Amino acid sequence: MQERKGGCLCGAVRYVLKGEPRGIAICHCTHCQKQSGSVLSFNLVIEDTDYEQSGETRIYVDDGDSGQPVYRHFCGNCGSPILAKIARAPGKVVVKAGTLDNMEGLQPKAEIYTDHAVAWLAPVAGTARSPRNM
Ligand SMILES: [Zn+2]
Repeated sequence: MQERKGGCLCGAVRYVLKGEPRGIAICHCTHCQKQSGSVLSFNLVIEDTDYEQSGETRIYVDDGDSGQPVYRHFCGNCGSPILAKIARAPGKVVVKAGTLDNMEGLQPKAEIYTDHAVAWLAPVAGTARSPRNM
């Protein structure tokens, strides 16, 4: 198993992923669009025991589709989104893969909330597409 490292733009928050992702998905939901300032987010689902962080994140408590909260962790200094903890998915963290130092070998398996995908973006080959959550 290859350890993967990542962190925010300014370097105040650093992390290590000590296990393989349980899921790799592109999310097109409007909340990921707003938070990232982009058209999608590239997310890894990790066991929380496989996630080790140094440095403090700030937390924005968002409302998930389920009606349960989504805790969005970000760097309070530079604003990089780092991860989300979803109340409906205890024991898991959803890491924003764009903050990894190296994304090599991480191929998305799914695209979710494709109802909100921008029209000019072609479906990613090899992914299962879901109009909302899986
Ligand atoms: Zn930072």
